[in-house]
Amino acid sequence: MIIVMKAGATKRERDEVIKKIKELGYKPHVIHGTTRDVIGAVGDERGKVVLQSIESMQGVENVVPILKPYKLASREIKKESSSIKISDNVAIGDKDIIVMAGPCAVENEEQIIEVAFAVKKAGAKVLRGGAFKPRTSPYSFQGMKEEGLKLLAKAREATGLPIITEVMNPENAELVAEYADILQIGTRNAQNFELLKKLGQLQKPVLLKRGMSMTIQELLMSAEYIMSEGNQSVILCERGIRTFETATRNTLDLSAIPVLKEKTHLPVVVDPSHATGNYHYVAPMAFAAIAAGADGLMIEVHPDPERAFSDGPQSLVPKKFALMMAKLRLFAEVSDRTL
Ligand code: PEP
Ligand code: MN
Repeated sequence: MIIVMKAGATKRERDEVIKKIKELGYKPHVIHGTTRDVIGAVGDERGKVVLQSIESMQGVENVVPILKPYKLASREIKKESSSIKISDNVAIGDKDIIVMAGPCAVENEEQIIEVAFAVKKAGAKVLRGGAFKPRTSPYSFQGMKEEGLKLLAKAREATGLPIITEVMNPENAELVAEYADILQIGTRNAQNFELLKKLGQLQKPVLLKRGMSMTIQELLMSAEYIMSEGNQSVILCERGIRTFETATRNTLDLSAIPVLKEKTHLPVVVDPSHATGNYHYVAPMAFAAIAAGADGLMIEVHPDPERAFSDGPQSLVPKKFALMMAKLRLFAEVSDRTL
C-alpha cells in the first residue's frame, strides 16, 4: 500500500502514520517527493482492509494499493527517477552518464593503478575490478581477495575514482563494504536471497546484475529483497542473458532498458563486455545502450588483454576505450545527456 500524505502534512502527522503502519505489522518506507511525501507500507498483504483505515488519519490524502509484486522498486510508489549518490561528485541516475571501467580482476598493483589512471583520463567516473571472482571453473583464478580490495583502495586514493567490486557471499559482505563504494552482485548470485538481504542491511549502494536466466520481473523482485531490508540505493545492470545464440557470449537484451525505465524508478546500467564476450562488439553495444536510455555503462579495460587472468577477449585496451568514450559523447549529446 502507498499512503500519500497531503502537500502540507506536518512531521507529526507523518510520524503518527508511521506509528500506525508499524502497529499493523508493516514496514514503513518514507519517500520524500518534491511536493509531498509518500509512505510505503510493505509486508504481508493480509491486513489490506486494516490499512485502508489509515485513510481517515490527519494529513493523509489517500491510500492506494501497489499492484505490482515488487513494491519499493516500482514506479507506482515513486514517479521520479532515482539518483543514487556514490561520492561527492558522482551520482547514477542523473543527466550525467556514468561509465564504470577497469579490469575484470585486480591482478597486481601496477595493473590496477595503470588502468585506473587510463580510464579516468578517458572520462570514466568509477573504477571497477574484481577481488573475489565467481569463476565457472574451480581451477580458474579466483581473485586476489582482500589483497585485491587493498589495491583497489590504493587506486582510489591515487585517482580519486570511487570503486565498485563484487561481493560473493554474506560472510564477507562487511569486509568488502569496508573498501568498496559500490557493492556488485554478479549474475550468478542475482537470486542468492541471503546475500541480497545482507546487502539490504548495509548502507552502501548496490549494483545488481541481472541473472543470466532471469526475467525482468525476477530482477525487480531481487531488487525488492535489497530494498525491503532498508537499502534503497540499488542500481540495476543488464549484462546479457542466455539465449540459443552462440555468436556472442550472451545476448544483450537492450529492450530491457525501456521496459525497466517504465516499471521502476531505479537507475539502469548496461555491461556490454559480459553481454558480448568480444571486444569488437563492446563499443557498438555501448552506443546502443545510451541511445536506449541507460544511465551508465560498465566496461572491462585491460592494458594487456592477451595476458589477462580473466575475460581478456572482451577487454578493451586503454586506447580503444578512449576512442569509444570520445564517440560515446556524441551519443550522450543526442540523448540529452552529458558524459
Ligand atoms: C564481472 O563483472 O566481472 C562479472 C563476473 O560479471 P557477471 O556477473 O555479469 O558475469
Ligand atoms: Mn569479467
